[in-house]
Amino acid sequence: MHWHINYMYLCSPKFELMENRRVRLRFAPSPTGGLHMGGVRTALFCYLFAKKHNGDFILRIEDTDQTRYVNGAEEYIINSLKWCGIEPNEGVGFGDGPHAPYRQSERKELGVYKKYAEQLIADGHAYYAFDTSEELDAMRKRLEAAKVVAPQYNAVTRQSMRNSLTLSEDEVKKLMDAGTPYVIRLKVPRNEEIRFHDIIRGWVVVNSTQVDDKVLLKSDGMPTYHLAHIVDDIEMEISHAVRGEEWLPSAPAHILIYRFLGKEDKMPLLAHLPLILKPDGNGKLSKRDKSGIPMFPLNWYDERTGESYVGYRETGFFPEAFVNMLAMLGWNPGTPQEIFTKEELIQAFSFERVNKSGAKFDPEKTKWFNQQYLRKKSDAELAELFKPILEEKLKALSSDFRLPTSSYLEGVCKLVKEKSHFVSEFWDAGSYFFIAPTNYDAEVIKKRWNDAAANFIKAVTEAFKGLSTFTAAETEAAFKKTAETQGIATGQVMQLFRVCVSGVGGGPMLFEMVELLGKDEVVKRLETAVSVIGEGVKA
Ligand code: GLU
Repeated sequence: MHWHINYMYLCSPKFELMENRRVRLRFAPSPTGGLHMGGVRTALFCYLFAKKHNGDFILRIEDTDQTRYVNGAEEYIINSLKWCGIEPNEGVGFGDGPHAPYRQSERKELGVYKKYAEQLIADGHAYYAFDTSEELDAMRKRLEAAKVVAPQYNAVTRQSMRNSLTLSEDEVKKLMDAGTPYVIRLKVPRNEEIRFHDIIRGWVVVNSTQVDDKVLLKSDGMPTYHLAHIVDDIEMEISHAVRGEEWLPSAPAHILIYRFLGKEDKMPLLAHLPLILKPDGNGKLSKRDKSGIPMFPLNWYDERTGESYVGYRETGFFPEAFVNMLAMLGWNPGTPQEIFTKEELIQAFSFERVNKSGAKFDPEKTKWFNQQYLRKKSDAELAELFKPILEEKLKALSSDFRLPTSSYLEGVCKLVKEKSHFVSEFWDAGSYFFIAPTNYDAEVIKKRWNDAAANFIKAVTEAFKGLSTFTAAETEAAFKKTAETQGIATGQVMQLFRVCVSGVGGGPMLFEMVELLGKDEVVKRLETAVSVIGEGVKA
């Protein structure tokens, strides 16, 4: 990557819309692997902006690099966008629009790119280069030996290479006729100021000496990204090209291509999104972050490398929470609001409020977002989501398990959701709602169990038996009254009582839990606890 480029940012107002142009944004991933978080964020920002301005959001598949093609990646991209609810209204997998096909390999077959490359040659803005990889290597070594910081094929070095600028017309023709492999390169002018506007960064100025003679058409006839995306952005009438910061160094070359093609009026506005950084801010977030939070929206298995990655979906994230979290990575609304529905994001979003600097990924905050959405869900919805997990757990314990009623399940969800980030945590947080405890928190027992406490538990059991309705308020009143009669402070027995009922020392609101479990079950559990713990203590 050519990070040696010196950019000059000019202070100037930013603008993000052009008059008289329909807003059309494309998400243009290459199917070279699973779509990670950064890619989804790019798609999301494009989607939000397009929707805000009643424009179009397009999915284009940039599959010109055959050597990096990964089976299943395209399908994965489509499924990920669907899961996130950021669906294109035009493009691969979403119904073709007026500019079909949307897959670059298919467009290449139609000769779309060659035409533009040949136009550039005819106008003297591009040339054929016949250099072999050995010759290119030798050139690089020569320049390195001469202490050139960033060796590149450019206005100076091309003079000593084998191309249609240095060879005679005859020689070029001979090479062509003999079928010698060649590429087409952009003829970047020497020492010229290239200036362009980036919606996020403002005006950027780069000297052309820092730009190399990029390959536009490869020897296999495939266009490179540089040519292909420009041709497609022109033909698909794209108004905004939004992409990762890693493309910023190539932007000056792209400006030249538009100019050389005489299509500056068709050029989209550019926006280079900031990187997503590791939680400690030290470098780019990698595909495997140690925080345990996924980097991919869905489970992804890369058949090329044999590596698999866990997805947000499979970890139990809600798509709305994932999308909300992603939106806040590098963008801010300018207000303290953090929770946004998709509709609210659409209304609030602008590229002008996207930061130039990298956005730190925060695993805890990511979980927090899910928790906020979990709390907002109705108990009935949560019960539906929890049911299959519960079924699996109960099945593993006994083959003739019975699922509780929906209203019981909803009651459990209501109580356990407060402290959970994911539905998948409900089982660990409240398995005792479904199976009576067989062991009891040893520390609490050691600290609190004595004759007086045992007598208290027995007395509460009796008091409970006498209750005709078993609400949280009534059981709590009976509990307090018994403590008073027994002359024991509630603080001495509260946690012990909880352990007798649930087996564990912490959990949701105590008497709400008691009410939900119901009289028969609670009485049974208290009696069991007294005998099991009492026996244990005696032994
Ligand atoms: N195919 C490019 C990539 O995956 C797209 C960059 C762009 O959006 O222009 O990075």
